Amino acid sequence: MNQQMNQQMEKTKLKTKNANKCAAAGMCGGCTYINGSYEKQLTEKEQYVRTQLKGICPVNPIIGMKNPYHYRNKVTATFSYKKGEIFSGIYEEKSHSVVPVDSCLLEDQTADQIICDIRGLLKSFKITIYSERTRYGLLRHVMIRRGFTTGEVLVILVVTSPVFPSKNNFVKALLKMHPEITSVVLNVNDRMTSMVLGDRNIVLYGKGYIEDVLCNNRFRISAQSFYQINPVQTQKLYEKAVELANLTGEEIAIDAYCGIGTIGMTAASKAKTVLGIELNALAVKDAIANARANHVTNIHFLQGDAGEQMTQMAEEGSHADVVFMDPPRSGSSEAFMDSVAVLNPKRIVYVSCNPQTLARDLKYLAKKGYHTKQATPVDMFPWTKAEHVETVCLLEKGKK
Ligand code: SAH
Repeated sequence: MNQQMNQQMEKTKLKTKNANKCAAAGMCGGCTYINGSYEKQLTEKEQYVRTQLKGICPVNPIIGMKNPYHYRNKVTATFSYKKGEIFSGIYEEKSHSVVPVDSCLLEDQTADQIICDIRGLLKSFKITIYSERTRYGLLRHVMIRRGFTTGEVLVILVVTSPVFPSKNNFVKALLKMHPEITSVVLNVNDRMTSMVLGDRNIVLYGKGYIEDVLCNNRFRISAQSFYQINPVQTQKLYEKAVELANLTGEEIAIDAYCGIGTIGMTAASKAKTVLGIELNALAVKDAIANARANHVTNIHFLQGDAGEQMTQMAEEGSHADVVFMDPPRSGSSEAFMDSVAVLNPKRIVYVSCNPQTLARDLKYLAKKGYHTKQATPVDMFPWTKAEHVETVCLLEKGKK
């Protein structure tokens, strides 16, 4: 048999295996690439980025995941009734009907098992399920967050009222089944909203948050904290971003759109100082606490719109040597990019979660004298859409 036929047979085997992999495939809509091989998916995602960045810069091979399953460290389940029985699952794409899911290819397996076991406890504890239609019922969602490096597990019970029947016994029963759980929190969400979490947290067990280690720093992650959901690939992404910045220890660096400060803290040991800029006040609070806990003393944070903060810094005559920017899917603003040019860094490292807005912004930055030298796609969300591929780019000031 020739090599080509052999490869074809291997591909067919993989395809059949994938098609049988998930009972909810076709209903939940999450896994666009479920029917193909992972290799083919990576090729298509890389090609998608090449197409978007055509004429802008060369694109390096995509960084894929060694074991592209069960990478989600945060899992949210919703509950519903079918013929009087409670089932759990996830919302169908762009809808509010619940697709039954007991185990998901993308989700952490411990988290999935805990959710199934919580579902099993509900009846005997007489816990009712919240209905969006009638607005009656107690339990809206269960969210699980697991620190992949520390093994810590946080269970968040999202409820409409803080009065949870026999809560101590419920926690006891849960811990008996899952001694790996390190914390249980009641999150009260009594609003008519599609947001999963409410504002109020009541700690039922443990410290109320988990910790996880990423690029040698330890991060505190509570119910509401933003934290990348695929820590294995995030590590590769941040390492690449810091490598591209080519830091020598002398630089003034900016980490714009910094969230809880993960990129900036990874870069801090290699730079003179780092300034993080972030809109979300809670994330800034976490960022400050994280820097303190990790004894990173050369990083500071500004809370506010990145465009406004940078404009102000440009007006004050500030300078930066390197700018990291990791904006949301909508991309950056012209005000931000105009000010970056005034701050006159040698290098910009752009981390993007949307190749389309990335292409738009890279073209704008080129007009400001910053040319993109290279781009590396990173598959942060295996099996999901190519539009969700993350890309890290290096831009340098000067001639093309
Ligand atoms: N760099 C972080 C977060 C990236 S997500 C990480 O890798 O974890 C994008 C971040 O941009 C979010 O934290 C969001 O709150 C923030 N953000 C959105 N709009 C912003 C704006 N106009 N100014 C500053 N930050 C903004």
